[in-house]
Amino acid sequence: MYDDTIAAIATPPGEGGVGMIRVSGPDALAVAAAIFRPARPGPLRSFRLRYGHVVDPTSSAVVDEALCTFMRGPRSFTCEDVVEISCHGGPLPVQTTLALALGAGARLAQPGEFTLRAFLNGRIDLTQAEAGLDVVRAQTSAGLALAQAQLGGWLAREVRAARAGLMECLAYLTAVVDFPEDEVAAQNIGPQLRAGLISAEGLLAGADQGIIYRQGARVALVGRPNVGKSSLLNALLRADRAIVTHIPGTTRDTLEETANLAGIPVVLIDTAGIHASDDLVEQMGVERAHQALEGADLALLVLDATEPVGPGDLAIAALAQEKPTIVVWNKAEGDAPSPPAPLPFKERGERATWSEISIIATSATTGSGIDELAQAVARALLGGAPPTAGDARLVSNPRHRDALQRAVDHLRAAVASWDAGRPADLLAGDLTVALNALGEITGETVGDDLLDIIFSRFCIGK
Ligand code: GDP
Repeated sequence: MYDDTIAAIATPPGEGGVGMIRVSGPDALAVAAAIFRPARPGPLRSFRLRYGHVVDPTSSAVVDEALCTFMRGPRSFTCEDVVEISCHGGPLPVQTTLALALGAGARLAQPGEFTLRAFLNGRIDLTQAEAGLDVVRAQTSAGLALAQAQLGGWLAREVRAARAGLMECLAYLTAVVDFPEDEVAAQNIGPQLRAGLISAEGLLAGADQGIIYRQGARVALVGRPNVGKSSLLNALLRADRAIVTHIPGTTRDTLEETANLAGIPVVLIDTAGIHASDDLVEQMGVERAHQALEGADLALLVLDATEPVGPGDLAIAALAQEKPTIVVWNKAEGDAPSPPAPLPFKERGERATWSEISIIATSATTGSGIDELAQAVARALLGGAPPTAGDARLVSNPRHRDALQRAVDHLRAAVASWDAGRPADLLAGDLTVALNALGEITGETVGDDLLDIIFSRFCIGK
């Protein structure tokens, strides 16, 4: 338990209906008593909402109307005494209330310090702490479902269960190392080792997909001018309007928009802005495509179904070959011809994926094929797996994936050593590394430096 009391504004800056100041620590109640005057006199009681005013204790001047909630520890988020004061959501009332709280004995909280206290006081494990931030930052409902499931603790439970079994193996191996052979009854820990490996492998298997749902991906629309790239971008943005957050971004020569494609937040990069009609246009098209492809996870090579595939298309197709690619056969309406089979650039590719290229016929104008394209993009980003937005039990944090990968590597080595009858101390070494890696996920075996890195990403007041 900490012996100091922290305070911070918990709502975003700017104007809003309500702004909230959070106070946590042993003096939380004293801070509230100093700066909040309930309309009806009487002490604040735990889990009772009180109406009143924030007042400056030195001048007794009223700062704002407010509602105040007191939550006595350990039945609070941080396990400490917590007070939440909600006033009007303007910069001045909120900041003045915070300043009064600081004047009454609290200190300004560090980023993520409320959550850090909740973690250090055993209220939540590290996966739940990280999930709290993921909930706030979720970009699609699939991402939100993943974060909520993790907040519920499934990952921590699975990791702890795997760890508990492996701990028993380590206890046995340590006994074998420490005591003469005849004093320790022989035990077959093979099945238990294998069970631990299987559960770690199972968690790792879904991680790449989970990370895509949580972090999203970048997809570049490339193609000659006028094939319909911007129109497709707009059609894809409309395909699923359930975008939770919208983070537009433009780089020098490209336009970026975030779309929700089958639950994945996808940054669509368009090589916008080439509408000149001189000889340079084709060359510019190639340059822009090059820029858009930089850092993209997937390319959408857009072709115009109403025109023959020409040298301009082939030049851009050659660039796109560096990436996994989906060919979009756009303007495929009415009596537009089908895509040539095989596509003329097929033989140019060196990558295996190029030969298994998928072609989606679309019309950005009528909307036909757009849903199919969204699904194809999602499937390609998920490594060929069908979108599983309903499955919220996926590891979705690269930190967890890296720890699981280390655990799996060392557990495989341990299982192989056991099968080969190698010495117990060798196995114990691998098993210890694996156990520590698993413990990093839930926070049981993390150092302060890692905690600093994780919690510094949080906002103040979280
Ligand atoms: P960009 O230069 O590749 O971004 O192409 P635009 O999206 O600006 O489209 C160029 C022209 O093609 C515009 O006049 C669009 O209205 C038209 N267009 C785009 N997609 C389609 C489509 O699917 N069908 C038809 N008929 N026209 C389209």
